[in-house]
Amino acid sequence: MKRKPFLAGNWKMNLDRKSGVELVRALRDGVAGVGDRDVAVFPPFVYLDEIVRAAAGSNVRVGAQNLCDEKNGAFTGEVSAEMLRDVGVTHVLVGHSERRQLYGEGDELCNRKVVRGLAGGLHVILCVGETLEERDSNRTEHVIGRQLTKGLAGIDAGSLERITIAYEPVWAIGTGRNATTAQAGEAHRYLRGVLSGLYDERAADSIRIQYGGSVKPDNVAALMAVPDVDGALVGGASLKADSFLAIVRYK
Ligand code: PEP
Repeated sequence: MKRKPFLAGNWKMNLDRKSGVELVRALRDGVAGVGDRDVAVFPPFVYLDEIVRAAAGSNVRVGAQNLCDEKNGAFTGEVSAEMLRDVGVTHVLVGHSERRQLYGEGDELCNRKVVRGLAGGLHVILCVGETLEERDSNRTEHVIGRQLTKGLAGIDAGSLERITIAYEPVWAIGTGRNATTAQAGEAHRYLRGVLSGLYDERAADSIRIQYGGSVKPDNVAALMAVPDVDGALVGGASLKADSFLAIVRYK
């Protein structure tokens, strides 16, 4: 099955109001003629409202980097799926390795966030990935298989069209050291096999699996040529219009 490439930029805790709006204005012009791939940016919470307005009417979708696992109520400091939808956000990241590692988010919490994101009408990108230590001790498949299986617990096949998986080896994020095409291919093939076991082959075949970890203009085409790699989740190289547009327009 041919899956539409999905290129996404995770700004993390970078940029400010002015530079974020300028970046999105440049992106909306730059992707105006690009209909054969999906494009999204993930700004910090406080800028979402304004970035959504700056991107309105364009091919650029706007997502949040996180959400609360509860619907509403006494959860100081948290932001719900409904609030994100209310300001026009359509996508959300769950389980980014920085959330897992720096803020102690485990598989069960990630699963509750996936459930809440879907219930709130969002498209969820569930991130999985192994550390260097886990790779070196041959536990890559065990770790990413567990993160995927637990992250999708209780999610029915009908919801999969609003799920994307991002395979992001932790050792490749922000390090300048991307996975080789062979490593990415192996991991993505494995993840698709796990999805096939959890659902069925048809469902597994339709779901997009992005690669993330030091994707740059000069390595994106090779990564995107790997079977089972359906897109990229980009950190550092998504902070500048020229580099992110070069990634979006890879040939
Ligand atoms: C990320 O933030 O998910 C990421 C992959 O970052 P970078 O592209 O900078 O490695």
